[in-house]
Amino acid sequence: MTASSSTVLKASGLTKSFGGFMATNDVSFEVHAGDALAIIGPNGAGKSTLFDLLTGRKTPDTGTVELFGEPVTHLPPWQRVKRGIGRSFQVSSVFRSYTALENVQMGLMVSSSQSWNLLGRAANTRRDEALAVLDKVGLAPKHDMLAGELSYGDQRTLELAVALSTQPRLLLLDEPTAGMGGEESRECLSLIRNIAAKEHLPIVFVEHDMDIVFSFASRVIVLVAGQVLIDDQPSVVRSDERVKEAYFGEDI
Ligand code: ADP
Ligand code: MG
Repeated sequence: MTASSSTVLKASGLTKSFGGFMATNDVSFEVHAGDALAIIGPNGAGKSTLFDLLTGRKTPDTGTVELFGEPVTHLPPWQRVKRGIGRSFQVSSVFRSYTALENVQMGLMVSSSQSWNLLGRAANTRRDEALAVLDKVGLAPKHDMLAGELSYGDQRTLELAVALSTQPRLLLLDEPTAGMGGEESRECLSLIRNIAAKEHLPIVFVEHDMDIVFSFASRVIVLVAGQVLIDDQPSVVRSDERVKEAYFGEDI
């Protein structure tokens, strides 16, 4: 196997401006098989914008995104999902008036281009598969609850299930633990890491809790003012003087 054959995603020179303000500035990095890559940085550093460029919600001004060696820079999100990007967003995006099971059924159908009638509720479509996905994240017992009635933590977990239902070959998770308490966040990341390990899924995640980042990441990228400050192993990042200054203060 050559080094490049393990490259899952390659971002090259990604720049995105909003009215002259550069949210990301010449961002380049690679994701390889087996990576659990954390992207960290202060609020406004450009993390969500970078995720949007990777998932296709936004198009870069310059730069390219390759997925498994194929350019996807200008493909819409659903085509990237079909090519193996599973994602979840910083703000919860489950369909609250549909059951947990239906949310996963929709994810399954999107990835296989089946159409879903939002009003019709094709109740039995791929039900067993959807239940199996819910089981992976521990939500099978709550499959009949409306997503909006689930606890906040369960809603975030449901989002993970929806991301998994699209049969991803790479998971991109923008603050999967946003709004959770410390212990709940740790359990959520632990679940994600276990599933990723079992299914050989590389993951890229944004997380604010540094203890969690340094216990779950195999690699860390620090973004500051839209630029990559450092891309290295957690222990190296943790002891880097520039990172301490730019981001952590003196307290790590
Ligand atoms: P992070 O996720 O690291 O907190 P974001 O990517 O959300 O950062 O934002 C980076 C910067 O880009 C912020 O200053 C934000 O205000 C700005 N920004 C993000 N999206 C837009 C937009 N659609 N229009 C204008 N400015 C934006
Ligand atoms: Mg963000």
